[in-house]
Amino acid sequence: MRYIDLARLRLPDGWLDRAAVAAAAVSGGASVGDHAPVWRELKDGLAELFHDKCWYCELPVPRSDNAVDHFRPKGRVSDAAQKHHGYTWLAFDPSNFRYACTFCNSRRKDLEGGTVGGKADRFPLMDETQRVYAAGSIAGERPMLLDPCEVGDWRLLGCRKENGTPCPASTQADLIRRAEVSIDVYHLHHDPTCKMRHREAVKLLSDIEEAKAAFVAAQADHAMDVAFKKVAARILAAVRVDAPFSGEMRFLLSGERDTDHPWIQELLET
Ligand SMILES: [Zn+2]
Repeated sequence: MRYIDLARLRLPDGWLDRAAVAAAAVSGGASVGDHAPVWRELKDGLAELFHDKCWYCELPVPRSDNAVDHFRPKGRVSDAAQKHHGYTWLAFDPSNFRYACTFCNSRRKDLEGGTVGGKADRFPLMDETQRVYAAGSIAGERPMLLDPCEVGDWRLLGCRKENGTPCPASTQADLIRRAEVSIDVYHLHHDPTCKMRHREAVKLLSDIEEAKAAFVAAQADHAMDVAFKKVAARILAAVRVDAPFSGEMRFLLSGERDTDHPWIQELLET
């Protein structure tokens, strides 16, 4: 996961007017689903904001997929203490849109790996008593789920270098809880995804080891500088925002920092 600035989303001509018409129809009793073409119009624009990757797991998403997720569900909310018919008043509000793959967005069971997950109608809160049920401000709600559109949330997620499974990156109890619930709800522990994440981790860690050796060698022999720069460029590419699992790769790179290798911090700040 990485931070995505939704303010950069470019809307098609006349979209706000079409959204207002749809929102008025829904508030008058029309079905939200009947107006799905309105948010689907934004699919390509949302995809472009994050290099066609899922905003939750960073896997590439085919654009033909039904990929626009309503962060606050537009239909029923299974985590709500009372019957909740959905945040229908946010169904056409771009600030509620996320771009997600089927694994993160739909409830699925992975028979081989034995995991179940997928967001579907889930939207747990830190404090359920703050739940908003009818049109109005949602500012008082504190979502449990990590949100790629909140500046610091992505930093709360890491992965284990030994097998690519996701893990909390914080040591603070409530933040650990948010990461754990998000891993479960977004199905980030889906085994095939963990295998892919692990492959990227293995490549990255091997490059870091090579870079450390080249960096030390270059202190005595400047000719080794070329070898160091070459592998450093590969590491930089692996943690760049367009790379697969770049958030988790940054987490792993952060874990390799030490005082003998200031270049790691420099790469993280690049
Ligand atoms: Zn995903």
